[in-house]
Amino acid sequence: MNKLKIIFLFFAIFYFSTVAVATEFSQQSGDFDYDYIFEQGSVWIDKDIITKKDPSSFISLEFIEEKQIEWWDQRTWKINEEQYENINQKIFFNVFIFRAFFEKSHDILIRVNSEFKTQKKAKKQAEIYAKIYGQMPNFLKEKTKSLTIHKGNFGWLGGNNDVIIYTNLSKAHSEEAMIHELSHVSLDFQFSGSVDKNAWRNAILQDKFYITRYAYDYFFQEDIAETTLWWFATKCKPNTISKKNYDKVIKHLPNRFEYLDNQDYDFYPVVCE
Ligand SMILES: [Zn+2]
Repeated sequence: MNKLKIIFLFFAIFYFSTVAVATEFSQQSGDFDYDYIFEQGSVWIDKDIITKKDPSSFISLEFIEEKQIEWWDQRTWKINEEQYENINQKIFFNVFIFRAFFEKSHDILIRVNSEFKTQKKAKKQAEIYAKIYGQMPNFLKEKTKSLTIHKGNFGWLGGNNDVIIYTNLSKAHSEEAMIHELSHVSLDFQFSGSVDKNAWRNAILQDKFYITRYAYDYFFQEDIAETTLWWFATKCKPNTISKKNYDKVIKHLPNRFEYLDNQDYDFYPVVCE
């Protein structure tokens, strides 16, 4: 599966579930017919915006129970040429549930698919992603209740207070993918996040540019998540991206960046500026 396909799948689950809402924000002639900066999805441009060396607020895990839950797993979706036949369908599966604790942010549940077989192996997976989650700035954690971890090489999904993780997706991009998905969880107005829909729409209209082709193609669903990663990179981690890319995004997205700058976000444990 090529990268664009993976990127598309990042948010497919919620693209289809929010079609009714999307019409309200839909394209009008001359309105959203703008340009974009990067051809690829924003997660893939630079894999080192956050790395293993960055601090994490993760403290510890506590095993709660093994039980059956009903949630999504896109490995069960049947995809034909044109459409997803059973997209957005939840299934029942067993998980090992852990509670994860963090400094200066609320605890969350980590639900590891029991296909990982033993509690010990499941805990290992929970630890990997709890540490990455702990590296995320606190403003992205506000609405998270859980992470759900599956095997497989699929794009991650964010929304409904949860991030769905596939452990075989490129590890180098895990931190960047986590920023993207948590932006859906905590900022995205599709999930009652903190970003104001009209203010964001106005910022798009004024910028007349999108961060990526993915944001351009699915602007209602993806613009916030795609843009937030690069705003964060320019604001808090400018040395991790090239000067050329830094200049490009600063030049083309000033209104969205100003909106995010003005939100008084809590960046802990990231030291920003
Ligand atoms: Zn997305």
